[in-house]
Amino acid sequence: MAGEARSDCLFCKIVAGEVPADVVRETETTLAFRDINPQAPSHVLVIPKVHHPDAAALAAAAPEIAADVLREAGEVAAQEGSESYRLVFNTGTGAGQTVFHAHVHVLGGRGLQWPPG
Ligand code: 5GP
Repeated sequence: MAGEARSDCLFCKIVAGEVPADVVRETETTLAFRDINPQAPSHVLVIPKVHHPDAAALAAAAPEIAADVLREAGEVAAQEGSESYRLVFNTGTGAGQTVFHAHVHVLGGRGLQWPPG
């Protein structure tokens, strides 16, 4: 059920401390940790602690927590010293989503091309 921790979800396991992660920020509702396969010098994932399959589902079910995730993404970028940065929400397998727990990629530390491809 959306919102409840799922035993088959990697990011729920990271929230529970069952899988280690390089955590850079934490709030009551969010966790931010470094991506294991960074695509930029600074690549941090910000997730809600509650389980929702993607960002839109999170925003529909818990808009206040979706706002927390966005606010934290900005805080991460500032903490990382990324004056310019990109937020990415891969949604669906065709867009490259591989973990079905809402998350935003915060990418920075280098010039970022547009369109992203
Ligand atoms: P997606 O592809 O769903 O948009 O993003 C999932 C991200 O999670 C990928 O960038 C991938 O590198 C990252 N990832 C996968 N497994 C782990 C893990 O065990 N630890 C961390 N920190 N990141 C992971």
